[in-house]
Amino acid sequence: MSEKHEKLIDKKGIRLDGRKADELRPLKLEVGVIPNADGSAYIEHGKNKILVGVFGPREVHPKHLSRSDRMVLKCRYHMAPFSVPERKSPAPSRREVELSKVIRESLEPALFLELYPRTGIDVFVEVLQADGGTRCASITAAALALADSGIPMRDLVVACAAGKVEDTVVLDLYDAEDKLGAADVPVAYMPNLNAVTLLQMDDILKPEEFEKAVNMAMDGCKQIYTLQKEALKNKYMKIKEETKEEAEE
Ligand code: ADP
Repeated sequence: MSEKHEKLIDKKGIRLDGRKADELRPLKLEVGVIPNADGSAYIEHGKNKILVGVFGPREVHPKHLSRSDRMVLKCRYHMAPFSVPERKSPAPSRREVELSKVIRESLEPALFLELYPRTGIDVFVEVLQADGGTRCASITAAALALADSGIPMRDLVVACAAGKVEDTVVLDLYDAEDKLGAADVPVAYMPNLNAVTLLQMDDILKPEEFEKAVNMAMDGCKQIYTLQKEALKNKYMKIKEETKEEAEE
């Protein structure tokens, strides 16, 4: 083991940011944060801060991209130049193109694409601050924004990663663990359908470590799913309160 790994997790199994191996970072989820969008969501997942706007179903531009048999889901994952310690070029990087595709493919199974031929939905993911695990936080927020837009969905999609840090399988890696740790397994999951829509792994894990990481990530997903439902409920509770106040006036 190299020296740079030594301090990521101590003898008691406590990680550098104070968490236990199976503990999530603090989360905050909110919907309906962009009035101009058809649906929107904001997530704070640890130090990650991500805003998602959903537009559509609407006409597809350019038209030749539209499909006569189904709706087209377009996703754009973008990291703001100020989202990482060193300025990132605002131009789309190879990584952003890849993550846009990964996020789209994680969300597509939740939508009834075949019911909306010749239309498109645009999902814009803006990472305002990044600290590891942005693809998972983006999927969680994008699914919420889609639900907020009112489009019928088979299920919500929720995502979380687990990985290996200094021979220990841990949940929800932050940036330092992601970069210095041994492996990372992001999982996206539809909790009611019990279906996985994304499973990636970078680096190498033993089969038993991989199994543990996937199970840990799915447990993390289930915890985040509760917060997703709460965020949607909160919006409608707020509307209910406002309507009640208006009626009383
Ligand atoms: P994810 O965010 O899903 O874990 P990666 O594993 O590709 O995706 O990236 C891990 C982390 O590396 C990001 O969350 C971010 O904190 C950091 N990172 C990504 N791109 C850059 C960049 N251009 N400059 C500095 N840090 C970056």
